[in-house]
Formats: sequence, structure tokens, C-alpha cells
Amino acid sequence: MADTALKAECTVDDQLSAVYNPYSGEAIGSVPTVDAGAIDSILRRARSGSRTARAMSRASRANVLEAAARLVEQRAAFFASLIVKESGKTITQADKETARAVNTLALSAAEARRNAGEMVPFDALEGSEHRKGWFTREPLGIIAAITPFNDPLNLVAHKLGPAIAGGNAVILKPSELTPLSALRLVRVLVEAGLPEEVVTVVNGNAEVGAAIVSAREVRMVSFTGGFATGEVIARSAGLKKLAMDLGGNAAVIVMEDADLDLAVDSCVSGAFWAAGQNCVGTQRILVSREVYEDFRDAFVARTKRLRVGDPEHQSTDVGPMITEVAARTARAKVDTAITSGATLLCGNQLYGSLFTPTVLANVPAECAIWHEEAFAPVVCLQPFDSFDEALQRSNEVDFSLHTGIFTSNLDRALSAVQLLEASGVMINDSSDYRFDAMPFGGFKYGSMGREGVRFAYEEMTQSKVVCINQRDDVG
Ligand code: NAD
Repeated sequence: MADTALKAECTVDDQLSAVYNPYSGEAIGSVPTVDAGAIDSILRRARSGSRTARAMSRASRANVLEAAARLVEQRAAFFASLIVKESGKTITQADKETARAVNTLALSAAEARRNAGEMVPFDALEGSEHRKGWFTREPLGIIAAITPFNDPLNLVAHKLGPAIAGGNAVILKPSELTPLSALRLVRVLVEAGLPEEVVTVVNGNAEVGAAIVSAREVRMVSFTGGFATGEVIARSAGLKKLAMDLGGNAAVIVMEDADLDLAVDSCVSGAFWAAGQNCVGTQRILVSREVYEDFRDAFVARTKRLRVGDPEHQSTDVGPMITEVAARTARAKVDTAITSGATLLCGNQLYGSLFTPTVLANVPAECAIWHEEAFAPVVCLQPFDSFDEALQRSNEVDFSLHTGIFTSNLDRALSAVQLLEASGVMINDSSDYRFDAMPFGGFKYGSMGREGVRFAYEEMTQSKVVCINQRDDVG
């Protein structure tokens, strides 16, 4: 049923830019694209959208977001199928992403109703006793939202939901590889009552992206994607607010007192979810030498049981990478590591865009696969001799999102929380855990701002203070 709906909604048209299924290579739809010459009309529409959005009451913003959440929920099978077809995520993973997008929209509605500002206690300091007032949360105006390929629905919801809740207009530039889920989400928002001009979707190349980012009227760029793109955007943005949700290279520490079965299961999932194309995916696993061999053998055995293949099959655990080029790049990095002395424990087979789950051991620290973001189904195992060494190795990359530690020692876990350089420390879990209402972002190089609905909403609004100077001579 979902397939029929998909064909009806997304027709293949040679005049437009085609979207391809990363597993089958088939064109599954197309989107109209524009170039940088369209920037004036994009901004004109966004300006009008900004006036409209600002005039919407909190109730109407919240009602739209709630209705959109319900519509996505009702059409969950369609959205999940679309995610599978354009991103290559497995159907199980796509179902989960769709359910999370429903939550993200519902949380955004709640934020619109709840987070309107607060009283300012002017009379708390001497000299202001006669003053009373509050601050409100005002829209920023026009926000540019730029999203990556890997969570084509929920990461778009994480930008549109809070921006709409805050009364902003959005110029949305989804990944050119996965624009269909984003387009359908915008259509659902309009069906739910959002005036059309509030969100302008722009499909196009880096040039049109650059024109949007550098436009003076755009008050904020909310970007999720890779470091190289983030750096280009930061250079061309000029004086405006930037939110940068960039890459990760997460380490997980497994102590000698850990529940090894739990650690193995969680880390296999954390490393290979979405074929490793996951900003909080586990890339390095540091294991106490006391349990290293047991962990390694169980981890490799568990990894070899993963079923790699067609993401539409319920039984598939690992689907394709987003393109064959991405898979070949990952394989080349693994081959370089092996040439440099790393040991291949399993995987490293390439079948088109499928890259089999790959486990390496003893990877030299200078190898890209150790210190850069892999964004591929590749994980590195490394034994350590002391807790201090584990912390130092976990922290030795200059950017980070989440990390994890498996231990049954609470004091140890809390020391790790204090000393690990990461924005999230998962205790007895892999790095791959995110709850859509928690603060979420990077910790070191390049990180700016936080997502997680309340936090994005606050980044996407600005305060306005009202202060009443109460005269005491009025009877
Ligand atoms: P990417 O940087 O290649 O592309 C991201 C977006 O930027 C796309 O929409 C692309 O069209 C656009 N873009 C490219 N050049 C541009 C320019 N000059 N101006 C404006 N826009 C431009 O990233 P990707 O390959 O789609 O996604 C993978 C990356 O995203 C990984 O590094 C991953 O870690 C990161 N990511 C981060 C998070 C997070 O929340 N921190 C979440 C998911 C993915």
C-alpha cells in the first residue's frame, strides 16, 4: 500500500533532479531544483512567510504542529517506506525514525504553548523596586535550515518544529540525496493548517545554499551536516546566528566489571545502526585488557550474524550506504588502516553500495579511521590497561558528540561523566542513544548551539523585555 502511494506522489521526471534508491539504484522520484538566480524570489516568499508566522497565535502554531504529528502518525507506513527508499535505512530503523518525528512535532507543539517567556524580578535589586515586567520569546524572522541525508524525516522535523513553534519562517534546504521525506513533511504541515509561505523548500546545489546562507535577511542558519560544509557555511554566513550540528567519532569504554553481554549487544547496534551513517554511532571501543579477548570474540561473532542486504526486508539488519562512492571511500580508509598495521577481524566486503560490517583491531592513531569521522559500518577495537588511558584515548579526537561507558562501578561511571569530553555520556549504553527532548549537540571543535526541541526553540527565538516603571503618586 505504501508503495502505491509512493508512486502516486513521486513521479520520475527527466526535467527534474532525480532521487535514487541507494540499494537498487532505481530513480524513485524527482524534485524541482533552482539555482542561485532564484534567491530574490526565495527571499521574497520567506519575507511574506515571516510576517504570516509572526502573526500566528501560540494556539494556532501548536494546533498545526499537533495536527501534523497526528497526520505523520496516521501515515507512518508511507513515511517509513519513503525513508527506506531514499536513504537505504532498514524498514525497522525507518519505523523508529518516523515514530520519533511524531514525538518531535508533538514536543514542538508543547513548546509553543508553554515557553512564552517569564517574569523578571526587577524588585529584587535595590533601585528597581518600582519596576515590574517580564520577557517574551519573539521569533527571529527567517531561519535557513539545512539538513543531511541520514535522518531525512526526523532531522527535518527537529528544525521545522521548533522554528514554527517560535513563529519563524523557514527556508529549508534538505539533502539533495534525500529530499522526498522533507517535501512530504512540509506538505503534511500545510495540510495541518500551516500557511504555505511559512516554509519555502529549496532543492539545489551548494551555490543556491551559499546564496541563502549569506543573505542578510536570514537571521539564523541551523545546519546539520559535515565539518567541511559547516566550515564553508560559517565563512560565508556573515553576522547571523549559527547552529552547527556536525559529525562525531564516538568512543565507548568497556571496563572489566561491565556486563559483557549487554556491552556487546549495545555496541554492535551502536556501531552498525543505519550502516554506521549516524552522527552518534560508535566508532571506537576501548576495552579493559582483562576482558578484551572475551569481548572481541563475542563482538566479532555477533557482528558476523548481522544480515546485510535489502533494507525493505524486515529481517535485514544492515542496509546500503547512501551511495556506492561513499561505500568505496569507507573501504579505502579501511584498506589504508590495514596497510598501516591494523588487524581486520571481519567485514570489508563491498557489493555496490553495501559495505559489510567491519571490525578492526589495533588501528594506529594516525589512521583516518581512528581519528576522523568514518560515517560507515566500521568500528575499531582497542585494549587499555588503566582507566586513565581509556579516558585519554576516548578524548583524543578534537570533536565529539556522545560517548559511553559500561561498568558496574557507580563511582567510576561518575568520574567518567566528569572527565569525558562529550556532550552526552551514556552509562551502560553505547554512544547511540538520543531522546528527542534532551539537549543535543557537539562538544568540541565546530559545535554551536543545541537541538532537542526545547533547546532548539530557545535558540530560534529572542527575548524582548517589557518593563513598567510604576509611579507611586497615582492613587
Ligand atoms: P553534508 O555536509 O555533505 O550536507 C549537508 C547539507 O548541506 C546538504 O543539504 C547539502 O546539500 C548542504 N550543503 C552542501 N554545501 C553547501 C553550501 N555550500 N551551502 C549550504 N548548504 C550546503 O552532510 P551529509 O553527508 O548530508 O551528512 C552527513 C554528515 O552530517 C555527517 O558528518 C554527520 O555526522 C552529520 N550529522 C550530524 C548530526 C548532528 O545532529 N550532529 C546529525 C546527522 C548527521
